[in-house]
Amino acid sequence: MTGGCSCGSVRYRLTSEPLFVHCCHCLNCQQQTGSAFVINVLIEADRVELLGEKPQPVYVPRGGGKKQKIWRCPTCQVAVYSHYTSPRVTFVRAGTLDEPSAVSPDVHIFTRSKLPWVVLPDDVPAFDVYYDMQTLWPEASLTRIDALRAAARR
Ligand SMILES: [Zn+2]
Ligand SMILES: [Zn+2]
Repeated sequence: MTGGCSCGSVRYRLTSEPLFVHCCHCLNCQQQTGSAFVINVLIEADRVELLGEKPQPVYVPRGGGKKQKIWRCPTCQVAVYSHYTSPRVTFVRAGTLDEPSAVSPDVHIFTRSKLPWVVLPDDVPAFDVYYDMQTLWPEASLTRIDALRAAARR
């Protein structure tokens, strides 16, 4: 899968399937996007191959006194991905994919602040706040995240 910003300076390629896809309805994501939710493709940072300019980080406050690093195109400022607690897992904004329909949410989170007119499908798990990775993620993705954690400890 490939994607990029609006002006074309930032281009990226995902070198494997995502770990998991979040649709987040939290107030932070609504504010950052100016929209109803964000769709985040979770993937190992080293599986996001940059083909053009490097996006630049912007530190954005979010709830609980934490900061989120949002990476934007230096020219058109479109946000292409972000990092939360770990720099090893990149949250690629699915709307920046060349084919946004290539992914669909594996889970809906923070539905407590979901806009009332957004109707969720019955066959995708949805949670008021967050969820348990161990029960929801496929085995292959859990193995991949374990490998990342092991690497972080080395
Ligand atoms: Zn751009
Ligand atoms: Zn969110």
